[in-house]
Amino acid sequence: MSVNTNAYQSIVSELNKANVTLVAVSKTKPAQDIQEMYALGQRDFGENYVQELVEKQAVLPQNIRWHFIGHLQSNKVKYIAPFVHLIHGVDSARLLQEINKQALKNNRIIDCLLQVHIAEEETKFGLDAAELDAIKNQLPALTHVRVCGLMGMSSLTENRQKIEAEFLSLKKMFDAFNQWPEGIRSEKTILSMGMSGDYQLAIACGSNMVRIGSLLFGARNYGTN
Ligand SMILES: *Cc1c(COP(=O)(O)O)cnc(C)c1O
Repeated sequence: MSVNTNAYQSIVSELNKANVTLVAVSKTKPAQDIQEMYALGQRDFGENYVQELVEKQAVLPQNIRWHFIGHLQSNKVKYIAPFVHLIHGVDSARLLQEINKQALKNNRIIDCLLQVHIAEEETKFGLDAAELDAIKNQLPALTHVRVCGLMGMSSLTENRQKIEAEFLSLKKMFDAFNQWPEGIRSEKTILSMGMSGDYQLAIACGSNMVRIGSLLFGARNYGTN
């Protein structure tokens, strides 16, 4: 058994007090671990890889809310469009257009978060302020996606002040996002920010959704993915 039940329960009570939603990040972990955490009451799970998500979705309870948190390629949207609950990492207008198209085919509206680039590393994906604005202008035409908020990842560093500054910059963009007309965004909005190593700092900086993997399921047996 690799689910850390004690950690799960203490994190859940901590997050409930702060009104923060927990996405349990189950990438690379077996369906059995997810089933175990489902039995504890968890319903929101996050996955990074399309094929892995599709395989797990097929064998696990149908009322799980699946979050796609990885880098999504346009040609793979069709595989998750029938069931995905929230796509966190939308980082281009083209990807949003494809999600809209696949949502239409499935006769549903798909909830999305726009990923903002806040880290210093060039390798991290995400939009800058100008690209965010360009997407905003396209939204009235995209009738089958609903933009619910923003998502971001901090730099991989031990420097807390740097992480805090990045989180605060994302919070500032989120405040601006909340000023968008309600017609082009959801009423209740989401700021998806914070992982195992920095979720408390993220919440202090205004996050209302955290994505936690290794604290709950144990370390993953490969790199930093
Ligand atoms: C893997 C991953 C997480 C979870 O990371 P942990 O450090 O294990 O909590 C959160 N968000 C994204 C986008 C991820 O890829």
